[in-house]
Amino acid sequence: MLTNTAIKNNIAQARKRIAAAEKKFNKSARSVLLLAVSKTQPASAILTALAQQQFHFGENYLQEALDKIDTLQDHPITWHYIGAIQSNKTRPIALHFDWVHSVSSLKVANRLSTQRPATLPDLNICLQFNVSEEGSKSGATLEELSALATDVASLPRIKLRGLMAIPQKAATFEQQRATFHQVQQAQQYLIDAGHPLDTLSLGMSADLEAAIAAGSTMVRIGSAIFGPRKTAS
Ligand SMILES: *Cc1c(COP(=O)(O)O)cnc(C)c1O
Repeated sequence: MLTNTAIKNNIAQARKRIAAAEKKFNKSARSVLLLAVSKTQPASAILTALAQQQFHFGENYLQEALDKIDTLQDHPITWHYIGAIQSNKTRPIALHFDWVHSVSSLKVANRLSTQRPATLPDLNICLQFNVSEEGSKSGATLEELSALATDVASLPRIKLRGLMAIPQKAATFEQQRATFHQVQQAQQYLIDAGHPLDTLSLGMSADLEAAIAAGSTMVRIGSAIFGPRKTAS
C-alpha cells in the first residue's frame, strides 16, 4: 500500500490529467467525474483519499466491498459497483451501492429493481457494452443494447444513466480513442432513441485521456491513485 502522501499526490496528479484532457479536447471544466477504484485497497487508503475530497469510489469484489462499506458507513461516500455480477448476489448490491456500472442482462436488472428498497434513492445503472467483442466476454453486444436499454429503463427503483465499457488495450492513442468513440456512438444512438442518458463510464489509469477525447464523463482510476495491485485485474 502506498503512503498517505503518495496517495494524496496521485489524486492531485489524476485531477491534473483530467483537467488537462478536458481543456485539450474542448470539454467543460470539471465535466468528467473521477471515480477512485479502491479494489484490493484497505479502508485506510479510502480514508486518505476522502481527506482529499474524493467521494466516489468503485469496487469490484463484492464481499471485500461490503466489508469496507460497513467500516466506512459514517462517511459521505458514493459507492459504485464495477465488477462482474453473479445474478444470485444482486441483493447486497441493491442494498449497499449507489451505482452499478456492469449490468448486461435484463435478469440482473430485474433483480436489482425488485431488491432495491423503496426507502433508498433509485439505483443508478450503466449498461456494460462489450465494444471489443473479441476481448472481454462480459457486456451486451451492440445488437442487444437497444432492447436491453428499453427494458431496463422501464423498471422501477433503478435509473438508467448510460454505458460503461472496458475495451481491449489499443496500440496507439488514436486507436484507443476510436474504440471509445464507438461506445460514445452507441450512447448517442440510445439518446436519439429517447433515453435521457448522461453518463459514459470510460477510461482507466492508462487511457483516461483517450476516453475523455471520446466523450467520457466518468473515468475509473485505480492504480494511478492507489499504486499497483498485488492480485490480477
Ligand atoms: C480495476 C478496474 C479499473 C481501474 O483500473 P486501473 O488500470 O488500475 O486504473 C477500472 N475499471 C474496472 C472495471 C476495473 O475492474
